[in-house]
Amino acid sequence: MFLENASQKGWIEVICGSMFSGKTEELIRRLRRAQFANLRVEIFKPCVDTRYSDEEVVSHDAHAIRSTPVESAQNILLLTSDVDVVGLVEVCRQLADSGVRVIVAGLDMDFTGKPFGPMPALMATAEYVTKVHAICVRCGNLAHHSHRLTADEKQVMLGAQDSYEPICRHCFAELRKKERE
Ligand code: ZN
Repeated sequence: MFLENASQKGWIEVICGSMFSGKTEELIRRLRRAQFANLRVEIFKPCVDTRYSDEEVVSHDAHAIRSTPVESAQNILLLTSDVDVVGLVEVCRQLADSGVRVIVAGLDMDFTGKPFGPMPALMATAEYVTKVHAICVRCGNLAHHSHRLTADEKQVMLGAQDSYEPICRHCFAELRKKERE
C-alpha cells in the first residue's frame, strides 16, 4: 500500500490480482511517476500481516522505493496492531477524503478462489480498480487464481510464493473437479 500526498484532491486506487500478476511492479510504476512529478510519496505496509508479504519486493529490491514501517508512521492511524477489514477500508476513506491519493495493492482472492480480506470492500469504494493478470502455468491463458501446490495446512499463508502457481479459470475448475472425485 502506498500513500502519496497530492496537493488537494484525494482518491483511492486499487491494484489487485493473483500471485505473480505484477501487482508490485504496477505499484512501483505509479510510485515512480509520482516521484517524477515531485510529489511526496510514502509507502506503508502492514508488518504484522503475513498476507501482505507479497509486497516485500517494494522494500527489498534495490531499485524499489523505500517503504516506511507502519509502526513509525504516527500520522497513519492504522495497522499498528491487528488490522481488521473495516479498519483498513475506513482509514483509506479518511485519507482519501482528506486529500491523499491512496493506492492499495493486494491479492483479490485466496487460494480457494474466495474474495480476500479487505479487497472486496476496497474495490467497491475505490475510484479506480486495476486487475492485473499472471499467465497460467498449465495452458498459457491469462491467470487470476493463486493455486496452492501443497496440502500442508501450515503453509496456507499467502505470500509464500513457491507454494503457489498462477492458473486460469478453466484449469482451476478442472483441478477442483479432480479434487472432488
Ligand atoms: Zn489454464
